[in-house]
Amino acid sequence: MRCRMCGQRAVLRLKAYNINLCQECLKKFVRRRVQKAIRDYRLLKRDDRVLVAVSGGKDSLSLWDLLQGLGYRTKGLYIHLGIGEYSDRSERAVLEFARQRNLEVHIERVRDHFDGLGIPELSRLDHRPPCSLCGMIKRYLMNKVAYEGGWTLATGHNLDDEAAALLGNVLDWKEGYLARQSPRLEPREGFAARVKPLVLCSEREMAAYAISSGIQYILEECPFSHGATSLLYKDLLNQLEEHSPGSKLRFYQNFLKIAHLFRTEQVQLTPCQNCGYPTTGDLCNFCRLKERLSR
Ligand code: SF4
Ligand SMILES: [Zn+2]
Ligand SMILES: [Zn+2]
Repeated sequence: MRCRMCGQRAVLRLKAYNINLCQECLKKFVRRRVQKAIRDYRLLKRDDRVLVAVSGGKDSLSLWDLLQGLGYRTKGLYIHLGIGEYSDRSERAVLEFARQRNLEVHIERVRDHFDGLGIPELSRLDHRPPCSLCGMIKRYLMNKVAYEGGWTLATGHNLDDEAAALLGNVLDWKEGYLARQSPRLEPREGFAARVKPLVLCSEREMAAYAISSGIQYILEECPFSHGATSLLYKDLLNQLEEHSPGSKLRFYQNFLKIAHLFRTEQVQLTPCQNCGYPTTGDLCNFCRLKERLSR
């Protein structure tokens, strides 16, 4: 198996594109896919300051590496969720990545906001599944740090993540979610701009990129991720991809061509009475959780 670009020994076959690539050309390939996403979906301008949300996993650390390599001004944002050893190990991976490259990282700790409680304790006390609480808290903190610092927030969602989310949204015809499922969300009052530069890169391509680039990411998954519906959707899409290479990319890219059809009027938001961030009620979900816990 020879690399299509340089003729060296290939390490990866990408059926969706019908090409074989060696390690070096794979890195160039992924870089070009990221540049294409940035260009096609107008994700970033040259002088944007980019806050990269990093979890310690392959996608987010590779995204940071790629944006830095493409010359953007970046800073990392790590949110320590208080999920036992998993959170401590992922924090170490992020700090080590930043140290090796001399990059700056901002750390937020869920425990600092909730009287020493992490996601597992909050989930027990509030009788809510850990992932629904965790998702809400992460979204709130990421937006707050990005908004207050004037950053554009970049997350490491890859093609598999986005195609699985799209499948879930389509199965239930969640129009509101479909309207917001975009590689770029524009900034507005109380909201930082949000971008997903890896949407044209598959999970497999990103794993190969991280390994080829010597990125030391954590392989361990969050202990709460097992059995998530998104994993079932990813599995189904992989079966489809096996049968018909390129279908994941077609599914997602063709959706983006008609996504505007779902964008109707925006829901009216008002400032949260406690923190001032936009919400639909009197208090935002983050402050409401704080209030419930204080009772
Ligand atoms: S899997 Fe873990 S990190 Fe992901 S949302 Fe659930 S609790 Fe949070
Ligand atoms: Zn090559
Ligand atoms: Zn609030």
